[in-house]
Amino acid sequence: MTFASADILGRHLRPLCSRDNHAMKYESSGSSSNNAGNQAAYHCGFMGCSVRYNLVDGYYMLIGMPDHANPVDEPGVNTRTCPRHGCWLYRRENVTAKPGALWCCGVEGCDYRYQANTKGDWVRT
Ligand SMILES: [Zn+2]
Ligand SMILES: [Zn+2]
Repeated sequence: MTFASADILGRHLRPLCSRDNHAMKYESSGSSSNNAGNQAAYHCGFMGCSVRYNLVDGYYMLIGMPDHANPVDEPGVNTRTCPRHGCWLYRRENVTAKPGALWCCGVEGCDYRYQANTKGDWVRT
């Protein structure tokens, strides 16, 4: 599986924080509050929450000093990747009546969906 680093993180997603289920906000690569390097990412920020999401790392937290922050995986959160892009899926607000979480690919324009806690069927919109 090759990861295409040219894949673009969609700007209008609503990934839910892995800790508090709040919708995370988009931070562009040039944002001053984004100290995770020069990648675009989503950042929770609720009550000082430092959970972030991007395509390469999935859900992660920045640990350490602002100048030397290291991304640390959220244990057990990142479990699925997009079969087309090989990037981590994000958890989205479940708008269907089905139980379980809805996971989506964060690549701009990708419509891959995975409904967790079902028989692994695809849900396409
Ligand atoms: Zn959070
Ligand atoms: Zn995808």
